[in-house]
Amino acid sequence: MPSAWFLIDATDQLEISMRWYLATTADHDTHLATPAVGNNVEALCDKTFQPHFELPGEPLDPLQVCAACLAKRALAASGSVARRR
Ligand SMILES: [Zn+2]
Repeated sequence: MPSAWFLIDATDQLEISMRWYLATTADHDTHLATPAVGNNVEALCDKTFQPHFELPGEPLDPLQVCAACLAKRALAASGSVARRR
């Protein structure tokens, strides 16, 4: 079961794969991000970091998750710019 989110760019219909990455093992420091330059990933909350770990699916512990990333995904999912498949 794929669990990645895809953001759809409204102008050129690009699909960007978003996955959960741990920035650190601290609480609220797991972000929904897409690969960026180098070994970095760029999160929905605009944070760029070198991931500690990539989650295979959805985070099991809500305490780990970045609130800003969750809020942005919820916003995107309510419109036409994102979908899950
Ligand atoms: Zn975030």
